[in-house]
Amino acid sequence: MKSGSDHSAPRNLVLAALLLALPHCTTTPQHAGVSSVSNEPRAAFELHSGMWINLHQELLHHARSTWKWRHRVLPERPIDPAWKNTIDLYRTRYAELENLDVRLSSIAVDLATANGEGDVSSDNELRAALSSAAETYRRKQWPEDDRRNREWIERVTPLLDRYGDTMREEIASASDISWPKGTLRIEVVTFVDPFGAQTTDVPSPLTMISSADPGYAGDASLEMIFHEASHLFDDQLRKGIIEESRQLGVPEPEGLWHAILFYTAGYFAKKHLGESYVPYAEAQGLFKRGDWTRYQPIIASEWEPRLRGGTSLREALRNVLRKLNPRTTRSEAKVR
Ligand SMILES: [Zn+2]
Repeated sequence: MKSGSDHSAPRNLVLAALLLALPHCTTTPQHAGVSSVSNEPRAAFELHSGMWINLHQELLHHARSTWKWRHRVLPERPIDPAWKNTIDLYRTRYAELENLDVRLSSIAVDLATANGEGDVSSDNELRAALSSAAETYRRKQWPEDDRRNREWIERVTPLLDRYGDTMREEIASASDISWPKGTLRIEVVTFVDPFGAQTTDVPSPLTMISSADPGYAGDASLEMIFHEASHLFDDQLRKGIIEESRQLGVPEPEGLWHAILFYTAGYFAKKHLGESYVPYAEAQGLFKRGDWTRYQPIIASEWEPRLRGGTSLREALRNVLRKLNPRTTRSEAKVR
């Protein structure tokens, strides 16, 4: 399922709610199916630092000056006066689009994979605007951004080399999927509004992650690459939660799938990085907000056995839902 037109309305509503509720990343609807990983090359991730996508993300950030969901971690960077016309174009065209709008995702994929200046976009107006802004960006800011991006990549590469294959197998197994074929392109950039990272699979899989957000720095980079990649198959988990909720006669707990996704990548990152590692959701206080406060201990007691290989995915989800809905458990007991 690669097209934006496949997005279901309920899913979009949930996504919209999540965008408002969560200080993190977002994703588009998922692959309809995933295939065997057995004959795939070992390199599941391809990390890049590219000028055009960095410039585009920064222009978008400035154009969204009135958008309250801009990336909040970074210190503000002054707008280059030479960018006025380009930012005006971005304001007119893109500032009001959701960050996962297929038009923005398509531009991001084009810029990430552009071979040269003439290739950055088939849209003449956009290409001219980007080229104009690049004149000063290339000289003033890009060297610093590129250096930070490359340092980020150099920091995470040995962790991926060491733990990547095992974590892929562990997360795939816990999620009852085969890891998606091919490599996931990861663009390391300065700005990723609004949460510092995002993953899309429309028109093709692409993760963007911020090298300037301290939340994604150091060992967290390993966990968050896997968290982002998990969005490529999170529909499996959501389907399971929706079906088990229906069978129990309870509403789907809002955002539970995302809390489980965080917990899972965090659990396996900690397993490899050691006890002193604090998973992202814990470090960033996500489990101290709203319903997630209730979710965390229940995910720990009922979902974690799944991560240890002790229960089936459906059984673990059922146990989570029962614990979240104690009345349901009592009425089930009465029926028996
Ligand atoms: Zn996420």
